[in-house]
Amino acid sequence: MKIILSHDIDHIHWKEHYFNDLYLPGVIYRNTKGLLKKNLNFKNYTKRTNCTGRMHRIPELIRLYDQNKIKASFFFGMNRALHLSYKYQKTRPLIQDLIQNNHKVGVHGIAYKDAKYIEIEYNRFKEISGLDFFGIRTHYLRLSGYSHHLFDEQGYLFDSSFDNIMHPFKVNNMWEIPISIMDASLVENSQLNQDLNIWKENTLKRLKKAKEINLSYIVINFHDIYFSDKFPIIKEWFLWLVELLQSKDYEFITFEQAVSELNKKEKG
Ligand SMILES: [Zn+2]
Repeated sequence: MKIILSHDIDHIHWKEHYFNDLYLPGVIYRNTKGLLKKNLNFKNYTKRTNCTGRMHRIPELIRLYDQNKIKASFFFGMNRALHLSYKYQKTRPLIQDLIQNNHKVGVHGIAYKDAKYIEIEYNRFKEISGLDFFGIRTHYLRLSGYSHHLFDEQGYLFDSSFDNIMHPFKVNNMWEIPISIMDASLVENSQLNQDLNIWKENTLKRLKKAKEINLSYIVINFHDIYFSDKFPIIKEWFLWLVELLQSKDYEFITFEQAVSELNKKEKG
């Protein structure tokens, strides 16, 4: 088993949500409920509901990966929808910074049904990143019955929008490399679930299942905004997971490396 670490960049700054979408009221509502139900203490509540400044945690993750000699993949929105509200032009310095640090970048896809919009997102990303080959993961993992065919026709190298322990498969020229472990679906009510043991137990169950089917690639999807003191449990879980995987001597690779291995294997 090899490990692929990945991050969906859903937010850049709080201000992109001001008078623009209903993300802020949702944050206040969800965390107030959490406070009343005692899922959150007051200190954590005030941190989470301070809706100012930067949201993305890319510099912090780059630092973590530098310390551990790991390369990861980061997916950026090239259009807006469903609380992803930043302008795609704002991603340019972040994408360039990651490329300079030898990390991988891809599209956090908004369009999944309409070839015309899929092409717009692809071309925007190609221009900003300067890359010719890259992959996609859709926002909220949205897919239709023919999304994979549209992504393949557009020229994407891979998609990683399935959340299931299953083997990679090919759709014409494009590989689907499913997600094995994702923060948002690992435990119930993930943002308010403060039981680190449940996070760990469920992770070990997934890893066991992956081993049982002899899965080649464990894809982890961790939303970068959780790498923050606002989410101490989710952050601690992720640090624990990276350390656990390193202690077992698993190799950390990128989607691009996996695609090249899969293509080689296919040719026999
Ligand atoms: Zn997303």
